[in-house]
Amino acid sequence: MQNIQNYINGNFHNPINNEWIDNYNPSNGAVYGQIPNSSKEDVEQAYQSAKSAFKQWSHTSFEERSRILIKISELLEANLQRFAEAESKDNGKPISLAKSVDIPRAASNFRFFGNAITQFASESHESVGQDAINFTLRQPIGVVGCISPWNLPLYLFTWKIAPAIAAGNCVVAKPSEVTPLTAYLLGEICNEAGLPKGVLNIVQGLGTTTGQAIVEHPDIKAISFTGGTATGAHIARTAAPMFKKLSLELGGKNPNIIFADCDYDKMLETTVRSSFANQGQICLCGSRIFVEESIYKKFKADFVQKVKQLKVGHPSDESTDIGALVSKTHLEKVELYVKIAEDEGAKILCGGLEVTVNGYENGYYFQPTIIEVQDNVCRINQEEVFGPVVTIMSFKTDKEALVLANDVKYGLSATVWTSNLNRTMQFSQKLQTGIVWVNTWMMRDLRTPFGGTKASGVGREGGFDALRFFTEPKNVCIKYE
Ligand code: NDP
Repeated sequence: MQNIQNYINGNFHNPINNEWIDNYNPSNGAVYGQIPNSSKEDVEQAYQSAKSAFKQWSHTSFEERSRILIKISELLEANLQRFAEAESKDNGKPISLAKSVDIPRAASNFRFFGNAITQFASESHESVGQDAINFTLRQPIGVVGCISPWNLPLYLFTWKIAPAIAAGNCVVAKPSEVTPLTAYLLGEICNEAGLPKGVLNIVQGLGTTTGQAIVEHPDIKAISFTGGTATGAHIARTAAPMFKKLSLELGGKNPNIIFADCDYDKMLETTVRSSFANQGQICLCGSRIFVEESIYKKFKADFVQKVKQLKVGHPSDESTDIGALVSKTHLEKVELYVKIAEDEGAKILCGGLEVTVNGYENGYYFQPTIIEVQDNVCRINQEEVFGPVVTIMSFKTDKEALVLANDVKYGLSATVWTSNLNRTMQFSQKLQTGIVWVNTWMMRDLRTPFGGTKASGVGREGGFDALRFFTEPKNVCIKYE
């Protein structure tokens, strides 16, 4: 059994109420450990620890903060295999993906913000004619809350924590209750890197109790949250009367728009990845595929053929393309959406069923699924499935493609495949999303603003945007003679 504890003030603790939650291994459906079912009291203990650490940490030089963050990054890299195995076991994702994406990116998050903080400058404005100069102090907020989801567990957890502590804040953080393991292991790494006690506190537990207690805490002044849109709305309602600063990265239903003039082979290969990477459980996956009519038939045949070749298998098998879904509940949700699509009259071109992997019969495996739809108003095209399910439909004109792409409540990302520069610019300007990829997908430069519009969120993470979120700007105006 792999039991884990809370990480508070640099030490590992059982929950005060001594209540525990089972942790499941998605690859075989078995309980393999327990995690704290933390209460308000644990969150309070974490808050007090963070508060005590803040005085010193907020005055620690940028060089020293940077040195520690980069050390954490190096230690994550040195422990790549161990962390990747833990992530794969906890989440069900292929070990190859955890090794090549999740853990390296978590390490990059610490390295990037360790460097970024040394370059973070504030503005000054000389008020010519008034003999005054203004400058902006950017001060850490104090104790902040970071809450992350299960799909890219350590990757998204550290994407929040690294800028928060780089900017001089102390953190009370909660990973998803279904993927708690790598966050727990991170505590050990932080101690080894010499992160002062209390700068980072990790409280494990349920969203509705532990997470809610973080959001409700009157002295945790900012919340950085990534998760579902409904949870984001609930958090916004809870936090609003306390005027907390909020960064909300929420759901997506992203269009992948394919024109006949694109580099076809590159598009096809990337579209398989943008549809099914991480079992389709990435907020950026292109789940609505719109294809120009002249190549629709060919694309449909080629895409189905390629997707049928994907290997659904045990996450620890290096040759697995599609691992297990994260939980039984999630598997049931995905199945339900396929049924909804069928009931709506859509056509399942491939997949649509659970998979039994030999030796792991109780695991949560599902076939990569392509559904052909006739319109964009059906539920399967409007609601986030967040699994290995994509839809395809054809379009005739640029105008029609743009209407289809924007006709959804979400606005996280979009991908456009074309070699036409004018079209590239038209779509870049008119797509109602926070991110547009042209002829690529999920290519990330950590300096760029990351986030969504509409129901996909509020605020931007990444680069200096994240450091701005985690600091409070104060204008100082000095009059001189
Ligand atoms: P949830 O919204 O269910 O949960 C996200 C986190 O919030 C978890 O840690 C959860 O804990 C916690 N939580 C749940 N309820 C509350 C509450 N009342 N107060 C405080 N915290 C709470 O999302 P999922 O974990 O299911 O993640 C999938 C969603 O995340 C998808 O919609 C996906 O699109 C979105 N996402 C968005 C990204 C973006 O950058 N825009 C990136 C990745 C995912 P617990 O797990 O214990 O319930």
